[in-house]
Amino acid sequence: MADRQVHIMVVGAHAGDAELMAGGLLAKYHQMGHKTSIVHMTLGEKGNRNLTPDEYAVQKRKEAQAAAEILGADTYFLPYKDAELPNDDEAAYKLCDIIRLAKPNLLITHWEGSIHKDHTNTCLIVRNAQFYAALPTIKRELPAHGCWSLTYAENWEDPKGFVPDTYVDITSAYDTFIEAAMQYEMVSGKISSFRYREYYEALATTRGCLSNFGKAECYMMPEGALVRKADRFPSF
Ligand SMILES: [Zn+2]
Repeated sequence: MADRQVHIMVVGAHAGDAELMAGGLLAKYHQMGHKTSIVHMTLGEKGNRNLTPDEYAVQKRKEAQAAAEILGADTYFLPYKDAELPNDDEAAYKLCDIIRLAKPNLLITHWEGSIHKDHTNTCLIVRNAQFYAALPTIKRELPAHGCWSLTYAENWEDPKGFVPDTYVDITSAYDTFIEAAMQYEMVSGKISSFRYREYYEALATTRGCLSNFGKAECYMMPEGALVRKADRFPSF
């Protein structure tokens, strides 16, 4: 058990996003004795040419549960439909309630500069949900809970303006990360023409090369989060 247990919650637009963006970090923190959880805003059930959305939703839910079990993460599903996730207060309050229930310390989600509207909306919803969850004057069933911070993970569909500032060594958790991601048929290459497995394996290696770790994941802090305060110029 870690000396000071933290709880990392990753919020993904479609089942599979959270694991691909932050699966290494989730596996690593679970191995270290911390608490982890995943929120799926939608199941991402419209991307299979051979199955109806209802049929694929059943499969994606099972895949998400299998991946979460391998990562050691709790899982929450919101009831929104793939490609129809609205950026509205109802969605933000649903997520606010999950944050108040699960009490994470760190929230991780998509960067807003995405080619997919569900990803952008998830980013905007998470920001509002974090704010609502922390405000005691917003009365919900559960009391307010403030998270320490929010950060953005790297996703192939969210490249516009994503500039990583934090490299996390995931070498020790890499095999678990890949095993979890492979629970999704789309990652193994049987559904999408996008080469998910190759991309995220290569990304972990490339980020590892740049940070001198074996394998790494990249994150980007919100604007202003890395500001340093000092009474004189740092390093002098
Ligand atoms: Zn997605």
